[in-house]
Amino acid sequence: MPLKDYEEKRDFQSTSEPRAFNNKKGKKDQSPVFVVQKHYASTLHYDFRLELEGVLKSWAVPKGPSMDPSEKHLAVLVEDHPLEYKDFSGTIPEGNYGAGKVEVWDEGTYHAIDSGDKKSSEEKIRDGFKKGHITIILDGSKLKGEFAFIRLKKAKDNDWLLIKKNDDHAVKGWKIDDKN
Ligand code: MN
Repeated sequence: MPLKDYEEKRDFQSTSEPRAFNNKKGKKDQSPVFVVQKHYASTLHYDFRLELEGVLKSWAVPKGPSMDPSEKHLAVLVEDHPLEYKDFSGTIPEGNYGAGKVEVWDEGTYHAIDSGDKKSSEEKIRDGFKKGHITIILDGSKLKGEFAFIRLKKAKDNDWLLIKKNDDHAVKGWKIDDKN
């Protein structure tokens, strides 16, 4: 089961997060989605989630994403989440995995470069995922334009960098707190 890790980490008697077995596949004719959730866990971080073939590929980004291309932020790959998690906001109770408030910080759609439809976008992202280099164009409220996830070769396998490409949407000196 692809979402086994997700299920095993959580006690669904206690948390209101969605169950994995309810996971609905995204619609074929719609653009794949992304969401960034601000997570007031024991350490504040931002969870960046990207729809890929029916699940949300997920990274915990301690400093959050940035619109400034000179900022290279660590993004730690975590377990896949069910697609419905994109709509989750609420408070995970004390004593549970990831206890603390979760709010949707940004959301929207994405596509791969030169990819008009969902299928070809997802194929490119899947290939990029294997190679450790993913390039996406985001269309969110806060995050827009091209971003890259780059896996750090010498670090632990789960460590990636999230970097804004220097395009028309880039903002030098952008600070995450100004946008909240
Ligand atoms: Mn989190």
